[in-house]
Amino acid sequence: MDRITINTLLIHNAILLPCDPDPCALIPNGYVFARDEHIVVIGAGNAPENFRNEARETIDARGNIVVPGFINAHTHLFQTFLRGLADDKPLLHWLAAAIWPGAIAMTEEDFYLAALIGFVENLKCGATSVLSQHYIQTSLGNMDGVAQAAHKSGVRARLARGYADRDPYHPRLQESPETTVCETARLVKQWNSSSRIRVEFGPLIPWGCRADALQNVARLAREWDVGVHIHLSETRAEVEMTRKETGMPPLRWLHSLGVLDERWQLVHCVWLEDAEMDLIAQAGSAIVHCPVSNMYLASGTPRVLEWRKRKIPVALATDGPGSNNSQDMLEVLKFTACLQKVETLDAMALLPEDVLEMAYRGGATAMGLRDQIGRLAPGAFADMVIVNLQRPHIAPVYSPQSALVYNANGNDVDTVIVGGEILVRAGRTVNINEANLIADCQRAAEKMWARAGIR
Ligand SMILES: [Zn+2]
Repeated sequence: MDRITINTLLIHNAILLPCDPDPCALIPNGYVFARDEHIVVIGAGNAPENFRNEARETIDARGNIVVPGFINAHTHLFQTFLRGLADDKPLLHWLAAAIWPGAIAMTEEDFYLAALIGFVENLKCGATSVLSQHYIQTSLGNMDGVAQAAHKSGVRARLARGYADRDPYHPRLQESPETTVCETARLVKQWNSSSRIRVEFGPLIPWGCRADALQNVARLAREWDVGVHIHLSETRAEVEMTRKETGMPPLRWLHSLGVLDERWQLVHCVWLEDAEMDLIAQAGSAIVHCPVSNMYLASGTPRVLEWRKRKIPVALATDGPGSNNSQDMLEVLKFTACLQKVETLDAMALLPEDVLEMAYRGGATAMGLRDQIGRLAPGAFADMVIVNLQRPHIAPVYSPQSALVYNANGNDVDTVIVGGEILVRAGRTVNINEANLIADCQRAAEKMWARAGIR
């Protein structure tokens, strides 16, 4: 299943932002040399002759910045077919009005195409690692399509196999705990020997998941060495649902089940109590912050500064194309900083280095790839992005770090490399015909809207 990338690659004349360990330290003019899947060396000044001679591919990155590939730690790519269908609604109405009826009308082929265009969008916006939680299991082949799409795109993917196994979650979208375990096992066996793809558990939300099944999932995740990815306390209404049912807010309920550990990625966490944050810090779990989605669905403003005070790893993400509606991680960097500024009325609440630290260190930790992604350093995966700073909306550049967080957007991404393989060059995908893919998706989505009765 592994992709063959026997390659040597040199990028030189570049501004480098290695994020290792200081998220903001720059090398104003330097080089990176990668062999096969990994970075061999990075340095300042001109590349030594032996690397120049050995490089099969050389990129002159003058005027551009080379950064580690972005890590989009939470999305649902089937929602590319549902973008814009339920704007301006809160979460529970948004699910009922568009996401459920649309998703139920999608075919296995639709899920493949929707995921593929989503992975392409992620790559073109500079995300080299993407976690997509897929929770529409209307057919057992749906998840295979998502995995095939990830493989075709070349992205480093974490595929959380989402499930709900009880009311009040939509009855057609529930499955039995036995099916969840059996299907996740099948996919783990099929994909997890690859260096690019890892399938993991994705219990959707506490209010749709049985306690005993969650405990089994936590045990199997440890045994199989995979992660557990769950939405948590996204809206006040959901917190009240769990409180009514269990007498506890959602995180306290998970803690009472004894399931939390460093494998767990807790998405949103908008409505956590202080004591719940302490429990997350003790468990070593990560939080995934999706600021655009929290604003879009009017879910609320998470207390990111409180998480950071407790040293909880915080990753950043777009969330699905149904609640964002884009997959642009550069846009997420800006919103992450701005949302906390407006919440705290403190312009220094989050600085570019804080945002980059979350995007890279937090993202790598949440993905279970600490030290292997999110940094330009010998031994790390050669997952790199070249961003063009010579653009009218960016230049002149006083601080490249600030330009990256506050000015650049996904359209400024020039080159994207995953595991030493160039997947985007001059802003275009190398292996995928984008025009054909867009036409295929438009045709399939129109048929799906007709089947779903969406006009
Ligand atoms: Zn989500």
